[in-house]
Amino acid sequence: MNAPQPLSASHLADTLEIQRAAFNADMFPSAAVRRERLARLQAMVADNEAAILEAINADFGGRARQEMVLTELFIVLSAIRQQRRKLGRWMRVRRVATPLHMLPGSSRIMPQPLGVVGNIVPWNYPCQLALVPAAAALAAGNRVLIKPSELTPAFSRLLAQLAQKYFSPAELAVIEGGVDISRDFAALPFDHLVFTGSTAVGRQVALAAARNLTPVTLELGGKSPAIIDASCDLAEAAPRLAFGKLFNAGQTCVAPDYALVPRARVADFVREVSAAAAAMYPKFASNEQYTSIISERHLVRLQQLVREAEEQGAKAVQLGAGASGERRMAPVLLLDVTPEMAVMREEIFGPLLPVVPYDTLQEAIAFINQRERPLALYWFGRARRNCTKVLRSTISGGVTVNDALWHAAQENLPFGGVGASGTGAYHGEHGFLAFSKQKPIFRQARLNGFGLFRPPYGRLFDMLAR
Ligand code: NAD
Repeated sequence: MNAPQPLSASHLADTLEIQRAAFNADMFPSAAVRRERLARLQAMVADNEAAILEAINADFGGRARQEMVLTELFIVLSAIRQQRRKLGRWMRVRRVATPLHMLPGSSRIMPQPLGVVGNIVPWNYPCQLALVPAAAALAAGNRVLIKPSELTPAFSRLLAQLAQKYFSPAELAVIEGGVDISRDFAALPFDHLVFTGSTAVGRQVALAAARNLTPVTLELGGKSPAIIDASCDLAEAAPRLAFGKLFNAGQTCVAPDYALVPRARVADFVREVSAAAAAMYPKFASNEQYTSIISERHLVRLQQLVREAEEQGAKAVQLGAGASGERRMAPVLLLDVTPEMAVMREEIFGPLLPVVPYDTLQEAIAFINQRERPLALYWFGRARRNCTKVLRSTISGGVTVNDALWHAAQENLPFGGVGASGTGAYHGEHGFLAFSKQKPIFRQARLNGFGLFRPPYGRLFDMLAR
């Protein structure tokens, strides 16, 4: 493929202006126009699957192909197809009930495009997190500007080139660059800004957006707990939990960060999770089905978390070995951790699993509620009452019961955090709604309440308006 010049920083404000002017010239694209844009987005992915996988694999220094196929192609293509299929229904003007005293007037809600939507993307699922929000924004009739992560330079370059090939910059454009460009990007007066990334950077992005009163969807991270209930069948739960933790080597926003385990079952838990990890990954070094840590800096950060925890009295259970010359990090279970350890204060974002013992369910719930609201929560067990208790007594972005990650892959569920783990939600119709203004329209009838609600107010007003 020819390599058109990707957009540079100096094009930033200009590109926004081009998109805004184009939007103003067609503020309500028809369903057919939107579907055609989505068809091009679909073709952009489907025609370039091999190049996309190759770029992401290069950026990670080795990423499990099957994980990429699932999360960077399949999920993206099915999200685009769903938006294409459903947008006609979602964009319809909806009639809602009108109260008696306002009859025979009528009330409607019209979903209207917002304008230009910006999307700042992290490195961990670079294609999915660039394009699933973009698909929803295009379906809702917007223009889209994407800023991929500087930690995935090969994919960012490819995406910029593909965007130029499949779209006019007035429709969808990609801005490459480092953190300085991301900062400038967040300061642009978008009509809506999506940010997916860490809580700390999310705070800065929210501040930058606030200066323009730009509404934000913040998809952040945090420490997502997994509760192993006393009623849990460990042989069933351990492979599911280990899958959730080790998928993408733990570099998933909704990965279980730590496990709360009944004190009496800790030894069994360690045995079952170790066995499950070994069954999935007979080895970690050079295993092409196991993903590498994104950079040397992140690998060192994770190794340091383990070392510091050990120095402070934690016991590390190694579930295999990595190899020098690559960044595939073997998983580590951490026992006897304390809340003061960095591994229990920071989001781990790697294949380490601290095990926190508890004596009563109330204690496990309190442990979660003493911390910032997590992006995800996992509960494993059979006792439904306990499950209901946990669902009612904790607040999290989402929940999967008896498995990990899956609520985030179900496109009909709203996906988003709460509190420190995020603001707003998208996926499926929730994405379409997030990037639309729900415009209320009240249409007055020719016969309208006999002028009762206009001065001069008579006795009838006093009788009726109470
Ligand atoms: P990050 O916050 O370091 O960076 C994310 C993006 O923000 C990058 O594109 C970067 O260029 C940009 N950025 C950095 N500084 C900026 C600034 N001051 N202003 C504006 N933009 C700036 O996150 P990361 O390391 O790329 O990704 C990992 C984090 O993302 C984890 O915390 C993870 O939980 C979170 N995450 C959340 C979700 C979700 O859907 N909730 C999904 C994936 C990852």
